[in-house]
Amino acid sequence: MLLKAVYEPGGNADRPVTYTRSLTFVLTHDCPWHCGYCGFRTDQEGLLNEARLEELLAEAEAGGAKEALLISGERPDSLPHIRRELHERGFADFWEFANHVADRCGEVGLFPHGNFGRMTESELLRVRPHFISMGMMLESVNDNLRLAPEKKAAGRMAGLEAAGRAKVPFTSGILVGWGESQSSRLDSLAALAEVHSRHGHLQEILIQRYVPNRTNRTNRANRTNPSLS
Ligand code: SF4
Repeated sequence: MLLKAVYEPGGNADRPVTYTRSLTFVLTHDCPWHCGYCGFRTDQEGLLNEARLEELLAEAEAGGAKEALLISGERPDSLPHIRRELHERGFADFWEFANHVADRCGEVGLFPHGNFGRMTESELLRVRPHFISMGMMLESVNDNLRLAPEKKAAGRMAGLEAAGRAKVPFTSGILVGWGESQSSRLDSLAALAEVHSRHGHLQEILIQRYVPNRTNRTNRANRTNPSLS
């Protein structure tokens, strides 16, 4: 539909579709939470190591990437083994590690964009000098205890407000197709519009399709409780 709008007679042919080559740097798949649709999370993978980081940087350079997408599970340093690895590698906490990876990306000419789930205002202020932008999906203003038992809309909204107060250019969005009503979708978009009207920091809104996951790598035996929800 987008290409039709751009290229058909009478469309927006004077406004070509552009894109940026990017490479994803997973700082860790480990996550304390257990969203039912997640095919990303693991329990005991640990952090991206320096050798793999350098491989990814070389790969990005060879492929002509301009953007580095740095991602992780949510609040990974709520996990004891991650805190232990950070300490062993000389990082005070996960944000210092994320800033280190972002700085290496910046050194080779990549623009680092980070998405680490919900963060506090002080955490966002710490990473802001190192990242070009950050992001976190709202998903919905309605909690879904079946699909995402630990993820709370109030916490996501608080994270979006924190990003606005910290003046961090931000990407967010909603999840569609998980059984939500039309009014729930509209309420979620309205919530994003409202927070943006106060801070002007939302640069991009994603409409992400829900895909049922049949390979969830959940291990509930290792569940812990991160400090934010
Ligand atoms: S917060 Fe949920 S969706 Fe995000 S990595 Fe953890 S389990 Fe997956």
